Amino acid sequence: MNWTSALPPHHAAWLGLVLESGVPGEARAACDDCVMCERPAGRAGRADSSSVATRTGNRLPESEPHEGGLAVRLLETSGPFFGAETKCCTYLPEIANFLVGGALKQPDGPGRQGVLGRIEAGIAVTPLGLAKTPEFKARYEAHTFGLKSSLRCPHYVESDGGTCGIWMQRNAICATWFCKFDRGNVSKRFWATTSRFFKLMEQGLARWCLTQLDPGASAVERLVHASDADRDRAASDATRDTSSELWGRWFSRELEFFVACADLVAPLSPAQVLALAGPQAQLAAGLVRDAFAEVSTRKVPDPLRAAEVKVLAREPEGVRIETYSPLDPVEVPAALLDTLSEFDGQRANAEVLSAIRTRFGIDISEALLGDLVDFGLLEAVRTPQDAVAAALAAIRAQLRG
Ligand code: SF4
Ligand code: SF4
Repeated sequence: MNWTSALPPHHAAWLGLVLESGVPGEARAACDDCVMCERPAGRAGRADSSSVATRTGNRLPESEPHEGGLAVRLLETSGPFFGAETKCCTYLPEIANFLVGGALKQPDGPGRQGVLGRIEAGIAVTPLGLAKTPEFKARYEAHTFGLKSSLRCPHYVESDGGTCGIWMQRNAICATWFCKFDRGNVSKRFWATTSRFFKLMEQGLARWCLTQLDPGASAVERLVHASDADRDRAASDATRDTSSELWGRWFSRELEFFVACADLVAPLSPAQVLALAGPQAQLAAGLVRDAFAEVSTRKVPDPLRAAEVKVLAREPEGVRIETYSPLDPVEVPAALLDTLSEFDGQRANAEVLSAIRTRFGIDISEALLGDLVDFGLLEAVRTPQDAVAAALAAIRAQLRG
């Protein structure tokens, strides 16, 4: 599957402008038969029909079998499981005005009704779009993600095993969030970078729509010229009582406004959108290209060092550990794990592999070495140049707000 085809149409077009080739799918996040939800014993996940249900959940065999039975085994969750009635949708998405308009233009149904419900409630509804409500912010706790049905997204549709009512208009975060990644940390970095790019494009376009439709000076001052923090506060604090000030001449014509935003954006080419979104989005587009180069090739850094990992359980099959994400634990044979301390960040990989062969009698292939890096058991050593690059990336991130 080419993931650009599974992205919302606007986002797919923007990514198509930035990347010359399609983006590989995240097949392990099999949403139709959610891999984070508990399954009846014996029923394996869709991602691998030959996998066998075990006491630890539904275990996938190693993605790439390596010589001597050594492997990084990719696991499905062993709990806490996400609720089948929420999956990962315990979230209230911020939706940019033109995406709101797109959702309103879709045929009437639960997806459109969910958007109408938020607009009619009148909380955190501004000409920029739909923001997070103070009530949701107060109730949200990251550690209960996927677990609390009271936090279920208003756009979640229970039919067909749980789907998104605004799939074609979902936002940057929903479009790029996965519980598990085919290439672990490397894919996660790619999607996080892409998410920031999409968000900047959405924000830039939403502000442009607002200025084109001009609700009035107060809206422009509080939602366009304000700092990010003040803008967020103004958006989430908006209520029916304050909204006449923010909506100006569009007050009580909010639906019409949102649809007008969708109509304004529809004819724009991706290149026009990128120009309108401004320098921050253009800078982010470059970072997406860099992240894609990383995810679409497999270059193992040299030298490597053993990363810090959290041991979750020692079992006869191997050691279950948490590495790059608590949602994506892996299992490795104890004998393999024991060798990793040889990667000291000083010696070249070839020298370390030879030492492991002599001391442990274990051959680590190039492919297995790649898996160990992808899934966060081994990591690159930061050179002074890397440190400068990381500092620059942090400054860029700060500038992006
Ligand atoms: S991304 Fe969400 S819906 Fe899809 S498999 Fe993961 S938790 Fe389930
Ligand atoms: S908008 Fe769709 S994908 Fe995003 S949280 Fe809601 S239901 Fe899930």
